[in-house]
Amino acid sequence: MIRVGQGYDVHQLREGLDMWLCGVKVPSSVGFVAHSDGDVAIHALCDALLGALALGDIGHLFPDTSDEFKGIDSKILLRRVVELVRSKGWDIVNADITIALQAPKIAWLVPAMRECLAEVMGVAADAVSVKATTTERLGFVGRGEGCEVWAVALVESR
Ligand code: MG
Repeated sequence: MIRVGQGYDVHQLREGLDMWLCGVKVPSSVGFVAHSDGDVAIHALCDALLGALALGDIGHLFPDTSDEFKGIDSKILLRRVVELVRSKGWDIVNADITIALQAPKIAWLVPAMRECLAEVMGVAADAVSVKATTTERLGFVGRGEGCEVWAVALVESR
């Protein structure tokens, strides 16, 4: 049996904060406002994996009211989600992520992002797709106020 899930997340951008995307630190003068490290791409991916098995969402699993998750490396959250998926008898087939960000340009970091996510999820790099786009200066993404990410994940029963 196979199942599919989708995830979506948005984080606000602010001057002087770190920018983590897909587990990679992006050189940038702006970064994400968040309770965790703000890796909006990993958050969307976690929600896609959880969604595939109707296991809720990361806000439910890792509440932002908990000190345990304050400033946490989102790769740890992803690892926990993957462990949960595997513990239920499912394996990850592939994931596809689209990041909408006006600036900075991140296309050059896509290979590193794919490698990083593949390693954390224990899958081959060619099972992980990361795509970067702008919104042609339209909307909150285009004004540089935030970053928006969509993710889809497919899982198969063992
Ligand atoms: Mg988030």
